[in-house]
Amino acid sequence: MSKNISIHWFRQDLRIQDNPALNEASADHVMPIYILDTHDIGAASKCWLYHSLTALNKSLDNKLNVYKGDASKIILNLSKKYCVKNIYWNRCYEPTRIKQDTEIKELLKNNNYTAKSFNGSLLWEPWETLKKDGTPYKVFTPFFKNLYEKIVPRKIIANIKNHFIKDTNNSLSINELDLLPKIHWDKKIIEHWSIGEKAAQNKLANFLETGLKNYKEGRDFPYLNTTSKLSPHLHFGEISPNQIWHAVLEYAQIKGYNNDIEHFLRELVWREFSYNLLYYFKDLPSKNLQPKFNHFAWQHNKKYLQAWQKGLTGYPIIDAGMRELWQTGYMHNRVRMIVGSFLVKNLLIHWHYGQKWFFDCLVDADVANNSASWQWVAGCGADAAPYFRIFNPITQGQKFDKDGQYIKKYLPELQNLDSKYLFAPWLAPPEVLRTAQIKLGQDYPKPIIDIALSRKIALEAYFALKN
Ligand code: FAD
Repeated sequence: MSKNISIHWFRQDLRIQDNPALNEASADHVMPIYILDTHDIGAASKCWLYHSLTALNKSLDNKLNVYKGDASKIILNLSKKYCVKNIYWNRCYEPTRIKQDTEIKELLKNNNYTAKSFNGSLLWEPWETLKKDGTPYKVFTPFFKNLYEKIVPRKIIANIKNHFIKDTNNSLSINELDLLPKIHWDKKIIEHWSIGEKAAQNKLANFLETGLKNYKEGRDFPYLNTTSKLSPHLHFGEISPNQIWHAVLEYAQIKGYNNDIEHFLRELVWREFSYNLLYYFKDLPSKNLQPKFNHFAWQHNKKYLQAWQKGLTGYPIIDAGMRELWQTGYMHNRVRMIVGSFLVKNLLIHWHYGQKWFFDCLVDADVANNSASWQWVAGCGADAAPYFRIFNPITQGQKFDKDGQYIKKYLPELQNLDSKYLFAPWLAPPEVLRTAQIKLGQDYPKPIIDIALSRKIALEAYFALKN
């Protein structure tokens, strides 16, 4: 007797291994589908998605079925047409997704189909991470301690061989999703990355071999290659956090447990914390978690915003970070914090503008991580950096990019500038600038604001708020 067909609906789980919903579907023949609907995806992420779907399709023997439109209608039609009994997917946690999933589940159940969702992208479900009193954590350290010490994430699911079904007449091609831009700016970004499940596994293996042993110290220095750069792979689910977690623990068994290992796992738990916040505070992307910030005296200066976006503020560490973002779709975490602080505190521009720009430009753009991190930077989030901690872009550059390797990589116009002046070129004597062939205001901008004055104004605005 031939087997039944189950649908596996791929979303942010673009991998075959350790995929709980796909594993469940594997008892039957599997119709793998991807649906592009109206959920917001940034421009850089769309390019990543194109390549990720292409890689996934290849590992599915070109049997990935691709559609565009209303997910509930598409799934219902397919289920009727192919006499499908079961529809499976892994959960997403953005509020709009949760709403959609709840509605689709109900619709399918009312039509006598089995619809089941699984945890394919978090170490722990948000409802497994509550405090003893049943409320969600708002502070990271106890959240981390409680989970890290007490709850072991589920084991990796063993691989199963599947038989995949193609909806030959109706499936679109991945090209027909129109994910790539008409003007091919994407090529420049994509050349920095290998995309897909295999690439993610290789990156993890490489990180365990080279980056992890110096992670705790090295992760703050943007010119070092000591962070994993797994964030876009995690966002698209090309790798699961469980695969990373268990691979790191295996590494620890061989190499011995140390602070680098704990610190790296801690960062993975920050990701969980962001998802936890988004799950319990659905307005995280739009509303200050601390309502007193609703009265903050933001100033919207378009010229400042554009200078920040283009990496033309005159502060080299800020400009290098913003150009890294523009050129590669990524920015080092330390620099994300510095440019964020500069936008929100020195330029007094609302964090929503930074969040939106990052969402469009990052290949790892992620509603939970991006929103939680911007609220953290702006000081208005849960367990946020205190507002009065304002990063100084000059001293941050001196501390974390001492020889200017990162700055010079992204600001070639400052290539010949003496390191002594690299973090504040306007302080360089005229002969130093001449030797470096830099005309300030022409080859590289003069600073758009005075850092000390802007800091003073920001603090006044903050203390006015408190009183
Ligand atoms: P690693 O240091 O190798 O860390 C491993 C993994 O842990 C990361 O891939 C990521 O999934 C997670 N992680 C690390 N740091 C954090 C953190 N601070 N918060 C939450 N998870 C973390 N991360 C995103 O994935 N998407 C975003 O849209 C995003 N926006 C950000 C915006 C701002 C203003 C800031 C300050 C941070 C943002 N982050 C975001 C968090 C962090 O910068 C990135 O996750 C990290 O830089 C990714 O590089 P990596 O993979 O080499 O990290």
